[in-house]
Amino acid sequence: MKCSDYNVEVQSSVGFLLYNCIRNGLALLDNDTLPKYKKLIQDPTEADSDPLYEELLRGGCLIDSKISEFELLKAFSRYMRFAPSKVTSITIAPTSFCNLKCTYCYEEKKHFDNMDSNTGKAAGNFIKDLLKEYTQACQITWFGGEPLLAIDTIEKVTEDLRNYCIEKKIRYNANIVTNGVLLTREVAVQLKEYGITGCQITLDGDRETHDARRPQKNGKGTFDKIIENIVEVHDLLKVNIRVNLDKSNCSAAFRILEIVEQHGLKNKVNFYFAAVNSNTDACCNLAPLCFSPHEFATLEVELLQLATERGFKINKYPRFKPFACGAINSNNFLIGPTGEVWKCWHTLGQTEEAIGNVFEPLKFNHVWAKWISWEAYDLDECRKCKVLPLCSGGCPWQWMRYLDNPDMNQIPCWSFRYNLPKLLELKAKQELQEKGVVLPFSKVSG
Ligand code: SF4
Ligand code: SF4
Repeated sequence: MKCSDYNVEVQSSVGFLLYNCIRNGLALLDNDTLPKYKKLIQDPTEADSDPLYEELLRGGCLIDSKISEFELLKAFSRYMRFAPSKVTSITIAPTSFCNLKCTYCYEEKKHFDNMDSNTGKAAGNFIKDLLKEYTQACQITWFGGEPLLAIDTIEKVTEDLRNYCIEKKIRYNANIVTNGVLLTREVAVQLKEYGITGCQITLDGDRETHDARRPQKNGKGTFDKIIENIVEVHDLLKVNIRVNLDKSNCSAAFRILEIVEQHGLKNKVNFYFAAVNSNTDACCNLAPLCFSPHEFATLEVELLQLATERGFKINKYPRFKPFACGAINSNNFLIGPTGEVWKCWHTLGQTEEAIGNVFEPLKFNHVWAKWISWEAYDLDECRKCKVLPLCSGGCPWQWMRYLDNPDMNQIPCWSFRYNLPKLLELKAKQELQEKGVVLPFSKVSG
């Protein structure tokens, strides 16, 4: 036996915590257990009759010395990306029009389109072709532009796809990424009928800050309407609030918690923080405002700490992720309003990045090859990284940019690389408050 390369030990304010990045179990070792643990990891072969030994095995902290965890992770990642999948995940942008003019929008729009009915039908047929006999679930994400500007297209494509899924006994589920301005209760009722169960809505701080960053095209604010809509729909759709952070809105972001509480939404909606990136020509002027991954990780943990102190349940528990994102998977695609097919959300609208079109069989062209041949496990930085099982290399698109131009870009490390000990401490505190114990290894599966 040997210790896992992915164990994380944290001397925290609640005591000594032990976590494993593959199995994701977290344990609090008390003063009696800690010396035993220290002794046992010096020579794991000696203590196989000790109950602690069993727990460490169960938690993945001790493993067979013949195992190379890195090779196992790499192989599993490939399996998950390329093996015939039971779930087919497709993102559809039924329009590239949007009713807002966000200051940091990354979508480079040279022209705008709506999906017409022919393209909608072809998109449906394209997806049905992907739903092979072994497919158990079809997962659709509606994206844009603002997808609610094209709700008729959502209705028609859904009807076609759901009928097919019912006939073939395939589970159907959908969610939507929307700015929330048009998401009234009436619209949410309609979306439920279209199989949409959740939505992601962005709120960037208090009214003043949010309205300055995410105004309507005519310059008017959107904050009040979005809050009103979230209040109206949160019992119908699972609401995930995304808070985009850069140096200009971090103090306002702290007030999000207060706002969510004031509107009776505490622990009724989820929220998470994301860093603004200056990734495209459309938003490259934002570079001085963007946080480095390290800065973002520090701020994120401060925000989450504040949230737990105010009694919010946080759902940022670090979990094993065999691949970073669907763009590098064989069965994930993004369909744009004119029927072009892409792999990565960030390339939506860039003709030279399309891998084909829903009107014809997929071309396995050089762009497709770029995504499918991406391998984070070959990157030196990731090979030696302790949080590799949680991050799986981060955003491939950002990595490609970094490798093309390392002086201008940053490695897209997930915040876990910098704030994992603090997050584990927060989780332990929360568990102690709620249940009096910290997640024992045995309750967490790998
Ligand atoms: S490659 Fe990066 S930008 Fe593209 S979809 Fe994946 S996570 Fe998003
Ligand atoms: S991207 Fe960064 S955090 Fe993720 S595995 Fe690579 S080095 Fe680690």
